[in-house]
Amino acid sequence: MSNKTWVEVEIIAPEVVKDDIILMASELGSSGVWETGNSLRCYFKGDDWQKEKGEIFLNFLCDLKKEKEIEFVVKELQEENWNEIWEKSIEPIEVGEKFVIKPSWKGYDKESGRIVIQIDPKMSFGTGFHETTRLMLRAIEKYMKPGSRVLDVGTGTGILAIASIKLGAKEAIGVDIDEWAYVNAIENAQINNVKGKFKVILGSIEDVAEKGFDFILANINKNAIVAMIGLFYDKLKDEGILITSGYLDFEQGNIEENLRAFEFEIIDVFKEGEWVAIVSKK
Ligand code: SAH
Repeated sequence: MSNKTWVEVEIIAPEVVKDDIILMASELGSSGVWETGNSLRCYFKGDDWQKEKGEIFLNFLCDLKKEKEIEFVVKELQEENWNEIWEKSIEPIEVGEKFVIKPSWKGYDKESGRIVIQIDPKMSFGTGFHETTRLMLRAIEKYMKPGSRVLDVGTGTGILAIASIKLGAKEAIGVDIDEWAYVNAIENAQINNVKGKFKVILGSIEDVAEKGFDFILANINKNAIVAMIGLFYDKLKDEGILITSGYLDFEQGNIEENLRAFEFEIIDVFKEGEWVAIVSKK
């Protein structure tokens, strides 16, 4: 095995252990992890894999298997096929009733009438289409109103802001603390022809000067959401809508309590697997 080969380890694992697996793969220098449904595919360079990284990773997985229901398969890939395999593995995804998300290298039949959002997944952590992204999109398609002003906190690829504009929002501001996300969201605004309506800011919600939003979207994690509820409240119009996700069903009660403490009214809940999105109104 040489550097011209890659190793793919596909792991079927429950949600609770996925983060540990991703962290371990990352610490061992994995070139990327691709997440779809309950499967995680971790990629390693052939040389790295042979120089004991493989042994460490497999020992880690074997230990994990003693406690949790996981399965895994190891495959060797030739470099020539690498991009092809990678690109082929990504299919357009229909989300909710109205959206389809597709990579630039795949076609999609326009006749279905779905709104196409073009996002190229990159070989890096956390760019896969996550359950919570789909939950957010389903909530957005149900509640978004034409002419709205939208704040998307933790915009990532910009997908939620882009979807809102495609449903008629008049402007969206996306904010993210991650520089890669900032650059990627700007690229995606251009590719999806919403550039004039989508402003991207590098930073956190405190760096957004604007107020009086009709919608705030935030798909991050429980602690981040709870910490920002007061700011969400301040930045929303009266009767404005807050849509949040990034937490699991056992955390839902806690999020709802915090929302009610700020006098948000919970109006809808979306679920996929163990993941939850909550729609609430100021
Ligand atoms: N909105 C996208 C991406 C969600 S991933 C989607 O729904 O698919 C969460 C994003 O939040 C990441 O890009 C991360 O960099 C960003 N993030 C984490 N903490 C943040 C904070 N305090 N302020 C702004 N962005 C944050």
